[in-house]
Amino acid sequence: MTATTSGTDAPSDVPETAHFRFFTLEVLRTRRLGHSFLRVTFGGESLADFRSGGYDQSLSLFLPCGDQEHAELPSTDEDTWFGAWRAMPDGERPVMRSYTVREQRRTADGTDEVDIDFVLHGTATPAASAAGSPASRWAGRAVTGRRIMAIGPAVAENKSVRFQRPEGVGAVLMYADETALPAAAAILERLPAGTRVKAWFEVPHADDRLGLHTLADTDITWIVREKGAGAAERAERVVSELRAAELPTAEAPYTWLAGEAGTVRAVRRHLVQERSIDRRAVRFTGYWRLGASEEQLLAEAYAGKAPSEDPGSEL
Ligand SMILES: Cc1cc2nc3c(=O)[nH]c(=O)nc-3n(C[C@H](O)[C@H](O)[C@H](O)COP(=O)(O)OP(=O)(O)OC[C@H]3O[C@@H](n4cnc5c(N)ncnc54)[C@H](O)[C@@H]3O)c2cc1C
Repeated sequence: MTATTSGTDAPSDVPETAHFRFFTLEVLRTRRLGHSFLRVTFGGESLADFRSGGYDQSLSLFLPCGDQEHAELPSTDEDTWFGAWRAMPDGERPVMRSYTVREQRRTADGTDEVDIDFVLHGTATPAASAAGSPASRWAGRAVTGRRIMAIGPAVAENKSVRFQRPEGVGAVLMYADETALPAAAAILERLPAGTRVKAWFEVPHADDRLGLHTLADTDITWIVREKGAGAAERAERVVSELRAAELPTAEAPYTWLAGEAGTVRAVRRHLVQERSIDRRAVRFTGYWRLGASEEQLLAEAYAGKAPSEDPGSEL
């Protein structure tokens, strides 16, 4: 449905439009999880038809721009919404952003809820917060009753679940930065007992090392980033942690990498070139890129310039 969705693994021959639909999400409550994380819990009647596939299930949010309270789209018709949305004037067009369904549940009183964990970034000063990062800014100001729109899953088997571990593969390697930690946490919660996991999780602050629940046999290395580190230093720091580690080599591991695009690329290169991990067993996704807003990444994707997420692609 969106340019950030990879097209390599449609799980069935059901037409794509049947997999996703529009939902109206209403903020029920927010909760700070760590230095950088804010959990926003959404409800709304349309969630009765929401079907998260779990793991790293993602969805596209449409957030109000400027000082608008709620995000409305001129059309939610599957065939016409995109043109109608693109045709809206700048300054009125809701901002589209990709996020992860951290959890979907039905409460005891029958209310459907969805949690999304937002990284709050770029809001350190009022000037910075006014200038950009609309999703982070929106989350930081979210209050009960605010409504946004989303394109989300209507069936649990859909191509926005990228984590697809083949049956019989007992070992998993993971790298996630803070934007992918919600996805990594949801993946870990689903892995069965006995799965061997070696993971590196990179976060901006020591207080972002969130408690993770899993039955899997995990060995997690937390990497707390140096404040102000540039792109090259960030990637090098992560790769040096991997280089120093022993990998579960007895069996070919399934590998899942997500986070800042440059670091993800460097980690993938290390695993494939230096550690001889089969590139076809590596699922990698750039969740964001230092210095580029999601609009810029979408524009590159529309122009066919975005790097492929295909596991077989060249490094
Ligand atoms: C499939 C998928 C799932 C995702 N899931 C989540 C999730 O669950 N939680 C989450 O927080 N993010 C998630 N992201 C990442 C999120 O979409 C991006 O961080 C997005 O750019 C945030 O939008 P924004 O409006 O705040 O900033 P933008 O307007 O897109 O970017 C403005 C500036 O901020 C920079 N920037 C963007 N994100 C960050 C960051 N985290 N830290 C520092 N600088 C940043 C950009 O490089 C740019 O310079 C996901 C992305 C994808 C593709």
